[in-house]
Amino acid sequence: MRRRRKTKILATLGPASSSPEMIRALFEAGADVFRINMSHNAPADLAEKLRIVRDLEESVGRPIGVLADLQGPKIRVGTLANGERELHKGDTVRLVKKLTVESGDDIPVPHPEIFAAVQPGEVILIDDGKIRLKIVDATKDTADAIVEVGGILKNKKGINLPDTVLPISAMTEKDRSDLDAALRLGMDWIALSFVQRPDDMADLKKIVGNQAGCLAKIEKPRAIDWLPEILDLSDALMVARGDLGVELPVQEVPGKQKLITKMARKAGKPVVVATQMLESMITAPVPTRAEVTDVANAVFDGADAVMLSAESAAGAYPVEAVSMMDKIATTVEGDPQYIPLLNSQRNEPESTTPDAIMAAVHEVTSTIHARAVVCWTKSGSTALRAARERSDAPIIALTPTLEVSRRLSLVWGLHCIYTEDAQDLDDMVDRAARFAFLEGFAKPGERIVVTAGVPLRTPGATNMLRVAFVGPQKSL
Ligand code: PGA
Ligand code: MN
Repeated sequence: MRRRRKTKILATLGPASSSPEMIRALFEAGADVFRINMSHNAPADLAEKLRIVRDLEESVGRPIGVLADLQGPKIRVGTLANGERELHKGDTVRLVKKLTVESGDDIPVPHPEIFAAVQPGEVILIDDGKIRLKIVDATKDTADAIVEVGGILKNKKGINLPDTVLPISAMTEKDRSDLDAALRLGMDWIALSFVQRPDDMADLKKIVGNQAGCLAKIEKPRAIDWLPEILDLSDALMVARGDLGVELPVQEVPGKQKLITKMARKAGKPVVVATQMLESMITAPVPTRAEVTDVANAVFDGADAVMLSAESAAGAYPVEAVSMMDKIATTVEGDPQYIPLLNSQRNEPESTTPDAIMAAVHEVTSTIHARAVVCWTKSGSTALRAARERSDAPIIALTPTLEVSRRLSLVWGLHCIYTEDAQDLDDMVDRAARFAFLEGFAKPGERIVVTAGVPLRTPGATNMLRVAFVGPQKSL
């Protein structure tokens, strides 16, 4: 089974997509990787969903990635005296360091770090930025603020502090225990929310090691200031436009999306564009024209993956949403402007042997119209460098490590196959040709380009390019 699409689809699982039948339907409609949001799932739910995906993987015979998204230091209002309170522009309100307020008008905020960090003049946004306060005075237990934009304030609504650098790690105690569970279960990707500093990713990496890929969700203005350093310490990035659009003026998000995508592509690390991509499909079977164009633009920019959140997790049309993304991406990739556009943003090879080989692969595949590039990759790094070229020919990544094949399923253009290591160079070329044939990439008589490292079994040592003909095929 092969997909005719290079851009990957990351679908969030939730109440609308928890049964094995539904998860299979999402896969069949085009989902390549599944996200499990730890804000809404206990470790037991994680285990159950992962089991369903692994069963599906077994039955379809294709590696499927699973990403655990750690909630991070999401700050929320506590419990108000009457469950809600109306705020009017110009009112002065008092925030107090409490979980619950039994009576009166104070607004409970059970996060001591906020009171220690906020300064007069800084802004507090509540409920996705719908309510806006400005701090006038703060002590270690209280903060007084003026209401700049009012509204109905309800219990447990999210708080964003775009101006404040919080002296907190991106990993809370809940995240630590969710992370333990995720690693124990063998999740392929761990995403960290509200990353502020490079140290946040370094802390995560220290715990995760090689057990999973580490993805930094870019949703704080502070993280943009530190983008090169954060990218250096991450295996992937996400343009988390939901919170980013609350923390930054919303009109600045598109420019940041371009910047994050460009930088990740240059580094050869996968980048996911997320949030509200097909938002109206939560309740409608068809998207708006603006949403279609948004998904299409992310594809034209060469993003590795586009993501669905509530559309697949809680909406009324989860399968239709995946299928719509599949159609948009496939159509854009077939547009005559697609490859020329990607080529115009092509990144120069770095001065390493694998990059030199991949640049040559790019040249050779387009000159001879090779049907596929077949990369033997042990750690996955060679396949990432091949994808970085954004060449027209599909890339088959052959790896002897199941975990690597799952992790790479997030990456642009890669068709990952888990297979035992090649015996020798002849076996390497033979099996590359057979896989290209059997998986529907090339017919007998057509050419493929094979890359590998010789001597065999040395990770990251790609130093060989070979053009091979697909011959009359025996079985594998
Ligand atoms: P979330 O992250 O869905 O976990 O909030 C994505 C975003 O903020 O865009
Ligand atoms: Mn977020």
